[in-house]
Amino acid sequence: MTTTSSRAPIAAVAELPSAVELLQQLIRFDTSNPPGQERECAVWLKSLLDDHGIENQILHPRGKPDRCSVVARIEGRGDAPPLLLQGHIDVVTVHGQRWSRDPFGGEIADGCIWGRGAVDMKGGVTMMLHAMLRAHQSEVPPPGDIILAALADEELGGRSGAAFLVQEHPHLFDGVEHALGELGGFTVHARGRRFYPIMVAEKHICRIRVKFLGSGGHGSQIHRDTALTRAARAVRRMERRHPPFKLVDATRAMLEAMAEEMSITEAMALRMAMKPNTAGVALGLMGDRVGRMLEPMLRDTINPTIIEGGLQENAVPSEVEVLLDCRLLPGSNQSDIVREVLAVVGENAEIKVERYEDGPPTVDMALMPYLSNLLEKADPGSKAIPYMVAGGTDAKWFHKIGIDTYGFTPMRLPPNIEFMELFHGEDERIPIDALKFGCALMYEAVSGYRG
Ligand SMILES: [Zn+2]
Repeated sequence: MTTTSSRAPIAAVAELPSAVELLQQLIRFDTSNPPGQERECAVWLKSLLDDHGIENQILHPRGKPDRCSVVARIEGRGDAPPLLLQGHIDVVTVHGQRWSRDPFGGEIADGCIWGRGAVDMKGGVTMMLHAMLRAHQSEVPPPGDIILAALADEELGGRSGAAFLVQEHPHLFDGVEHALGELGGFTVHARGRRFYPIMVAEKHICRIRVKFLGSGGHGSQIHRDTALTRAARAVRRMERRHPPFKLVDATRAMLEAMAEEMSITEAMALRMAMKPNTAGVALGLMGDRVGRMLEPMLRDTINPTIIEGGLQENAVPSEVEVLLDCRLLPGSNQSDIVREVLAVVGENAEIKVERYEDGPPTVDMALMPYLSNLLEKADPGSKAIPYMVAGGTDAKWFHKIGIDTYGFTPMRLPPNIEFMELFHGEDERIPIDALKFGCALMYEAVSGYRG
């Protein structure tokens, strides 16, 4: 449903706002999801784009007027396909966290802008917005059209945001091959080296419900081999037995690029990680922190998340259900993971696939050289590497209409700031220098993109 739309006036009038002001303003809208309530933020974005004479519209699913996304477009020279900049304006909750500053204040202190969303990902949306405003004011239009999608609902799966747009308004993205999105382009300091991971792939989700059956009866009697003890044994086995190691192209490219930069012993561990029969040893050698980060990129995973069973205090249940959150590598499919689950749960269990999201069988990395070059030029001596994210982002929705997303919201970070710790954490903040670095690179990326 389209609530409002506008045509671009002949000339833009408003001045280019500073990136710092844009981000402060975005942070001040509390778009914690749940419930989301992106409307106010979207209305503000719309009026800003209107002031600059940029064609844009607010869209929301039928019956959900608070779940607003904004899609804006500027025209290019027609020398390249349109480039999509997609970022979400909802944020995760601050509930239960202890912040030293107002999470929705957008305060400036210690060279940083503080607040929920500073890095995930109102900071990234700021870079996209700033690049678009700048491209619109430039005397030379960009090679192709630039489309900005400021999205609702990413944090809870994107059904009211990206999924809604690709299902109901796919024409807005006609001709788009590539998108720039979240989770990439930030500095990772490792052994004195600086890496810039660019997200090129994500795992896809399979949720499996396992029903364990066993003898039930009165809680005053002796029972052996009940549904509950069977479930407990299966869950214990899941800690020890995992799906086999598999090397996908994106992870191979990442490990090879890192090995080239590291010392001989570190490189050896990285190369061992590429071989299924030595990957386990390699992960052990890398230590807990690195191993834990790398392991989900090397295998499908199975995690029990919900157990349900038993209704009455004095009755042993004859059925217990365990929900498994499974995450699959590109190229793995439903039957692969079902086979693994069956092997671990054993007999006397019924399994049912509750949700399966198909993922791309292979990963496109065509835009890697272009984006790597931008980052390595901006931070000489650093190395950009492709990587796969263990979780999911809105990239999966855009992939359904043939758009490949690259994680590219560049941030040059000092060694004392760990990006992943700020993510969803308390005292989320972004160094102002990193924001400016991102704005400059985002502008370069949109003005040089050739498809
Ligand atoms: Zn995010």
